[in-house]
Amino acid sequence: MFTAPYHYTRAFAEQLDGQDELARFRDEFYVNPDSIYMDGNSLGLLSKRAEQSLLRVVDAWKTRGIDGWTQGEHPWFYMAEQLAALSAPLVGAAADEVIVTGSTTTNLHQLVATFYKPEGVRTQIVADALNFPSDIYALQSQLRLHGLDPAEHLIQVQSRDGRMIEEDDIIAAMTDEVALVILPTVLYRSGQLLDMERLTAEAHARGILIGFDGCHSVGAVQHHFSQWGVDFAYWCNYKYLNSGPGGVGGLYVNRKHFGRLPGLAGWFGSSKDKQFDMEHRFVPAADAGAYQIGTPHIISMAPLIGSLEMFAEADLTRLRRKSLQMTAYMMGLIEQELSGMGFTIGNPRDDQRRGGHVSLEHAEAARICKALKESGVVPDFRAPNIIRLAPIALYSTYGDVWDTVQRLKTIMTDKLYEKFENTRDVVA
Ligand SMILES: *Cc1c(COP(=O)(O)O)cnc(C)c1O
Repeated sequence: MFTAPYHYTRAFAEQLDGQDELARFRDEFYVNPDSIYMDGNSLGLLSKRAEQSLLRVVDAWKTRGIDGWTQGEHPWFYMAEQLAALSAPLVGAAADEVIVTGSTTTNLHQLVATFYKPEGVRTQIVADALNFPSDIYALQSQLRLHGLDPAEHLIQVQSRDGRMIEEDDIIAAMTDEVALVILPTVLYRSGQLLDMERLTAEAHARGILIGFDGCHSVGAVQHHFSQWGVDFAYWCNYKYLNSGPGGVGGLYVNRKHFGRLPGLAGWFGSSKDKQFDMEHRFVPAADAGAYQIGTPHIISMAPLIGSLEMFAEADLTRLRRKSLQMTAYMMGLIEQELSGMGFTIGNPRDDQRRGGHVSLEHAEAARICKALKESGVVPDFRAPNIIRLAPIALYSTYGDVWDTVQRLKTIMTDKLYEKFENTRDVVA
């Protein structure tokens, strides 16, 4: 542990790495020695344990064929539930309130199809104006399925400064016409962490259900969904949880809602002992398993087995502490080393309100990102002007943070960004 003021030398960064209680986990990842990875909030790196669990599952297919469903080290028929039990501590839920299934977007569809019941004047869904587009598209289409016009029934709480959403503004939007509130836990651009406990209490005081998108917080920030009484949540596992591109997502349903018929039913939502009765009367699982739809994507789930084992060992409290220290250190370095170069730190400074990444704004952000990539740093760019930098507690070092800021400094001082166009690539 260290406290500000930091020393602005590489030796100090190395000293912090020397004291890092999580340092041993870096060796468990495939970290490219020639590159500094600051994009683990978009796609986490592969760990050796995730690779091993994937290979074990492929081997079960190779050696057992169909019997892999019920036999071997990780019988596929129970894998979603087993992974849910490993995920539950990360979101503050009981094992049976979680299921690993679907993707962020399909899980949102499932949950809105299940929980959005417009009735009388209560027809609106409240979201925010800064959320990830896929969530908004899903909400618009769910409203249309009810024959409702999204322009009227989807209320997007506006940002006052283009970065943050004020909780007071969200609460003010919770009127008698609102049926459901859907919000991100952490905003994907600015990294603002919303006060989920407060928002849940305010929604419930008005008879409104509330669900959260945990894509940018699960694996980085502690949650207490059950204790807070959150109705439901959904997230992806390929960002901070390192489960690989397109890795299967997760969802949470508070046990007070167990027994609600899934809006989108399928045979894998069946009670496990009934599923193979093959009857046309659907008998849903008694828990969050009911919200599964079809056959689980076993191969895309397998890396999560090894990955979640590491989260259990590393302990989320320690991961969060290091993540906050790394982003604080990065912000300190940015202020010290890059002042007067046109950068603005767009994320909250307060530890209570900051997720896992630094949101650095600059008018030339698109081409500064390209120059960073050329210099061996992997950031990501979010239109129109944001460079997201995410030092990851499991595998990034304070030395990485130091080097990233130094390379940014060189790029600005030598105007290395000028040889690139200030436009985004197809995948930014
Ligand atoms: C990453 C992310 C998604 C991606 O959804 P997929 O269904 O996995 O493609 C959706 N919403 C948010 C807020 C995200 O951060």
